[in-house]
Amino acid sequence: MALLLDIRDPNWMREEELRDLLAPRLPGVPIYCGLANADREQVLVLAVVRLHPDVVGCLPALRLVQKLGAGVESIVQSTDLPPHVRVARLKPQQAGREIAEYCLAYVLRDQRNMLRHAMAAHDCRWDQVAPKQSHQTTVGVLGLGHIGGQVARSFAALGFRVLGWSRSPKTVEGATCVSGRDALPAMLGECDYVVSVLPSTPETRDLFDNRLFAELKAGARLINVGRGDLVVDADLLAALDNGRLAGAVLDVFREEPLPANHPFWQHDKITVTPHVSGWHLDDGLPDVAENYRRLVAGEPLLHEVSRQAGY
Ligand code: NDP
Repeated sequence: MALLLDIRDPNWMREEELRDLLAPRLPGVPIYCGLANADREQVLVLAVVRLHPDVVGCLPALRLVQKLGAGVESIVQSTDLPPHVRVARLKPQQAGREIAEYCLAYVLRDQRNMLRHAMAAHDCRWDQVAPKQSHQTTVGVLGLGHIGGQVARSFAALGFRVLGWSRSPKTVEGATCVSGRDALPAMLGECDYVVSVLPSTPETRDLFDNRLFAELKAGARLINVGRGDLVVDADLLAALDNGRLAGAVLDVFREEPLPANHPFWQHDKITVTPHVSGWHLDDGLPDVAENYRRLVAGEPLLHEVSRQAGY
């Protein structure tokens, strides 16, 4: 029985680094770096950043795909994955904190008129304008899970009025929470900022379309840190151009890297960042070893996802 690490991402951790981190937690367990080096018949757990199509078919004993991150849409959608193979993800505290910081930073940029002051300072202009007050500003957080919950609590801690939305009823300290699609229009109508921290699932894909944008308060701003395919690109551009939306901050896109000719890059109401809002997974990585141990021991896995629900 063995663990296979298949990372193949030059911008991320090397397989050997991860092996050295996990090995002391899994004494006696072979940990292979890359399919070419693996005894394929022995691999019980496959840890991936992305599930490559050539791998699963070579691993007859596979029982768990462990995502080295949060978004599992490409894994659960994979037609290569036999139904008995389970899927789990990581829930690092650091990445959640980083995403909360990202959302706070871009909301505070507007609240404190930072872009306007930077331009005025560049022209040596004394341009006094009142900052907006947090207690008079409503932030709606869509998705109240591991990350969305941290985002909602961070805004509440700074005194913002926070509304939250999830699939099933949730309680988040400092936020007023609702659930289900029917509850969304009334909530959106109150939000100055809408922060999307939703996974990509059959229910959430294309959620941000013309119909949803029409439900927003006029002049609201969108921050999307969930997944790019939640947003219908053409409908977002239309909502910005007709003034329904005042601005959008986008960290995730349907196609990544965002193609150089995509209209989002040049749009003066859109801020593009290259999928960097949540970065560090370090404190979640020991759970890869723990899930291997739990799988073998027949214990409940950490952070197992529902392949049916898609998250
Ligand atoms: P969780 O699974 O912990 O939470 C997901 C939340 O979304 C839950 O509150 C869930 O509701 C809600 N949700 C799911 N489907 C629906 C629906 N149909 N209607 C309403 N609410 C729904 O995930 P995380 O918080 O850890 O992560 C969320 C997503 O953030 C990831 O899937 C990933 O796509 C993205 N992400 C982006 C990163 C980046 O760098 N930009 C980094 C990490 C993650 P309920 O509570 O009822 O289940």
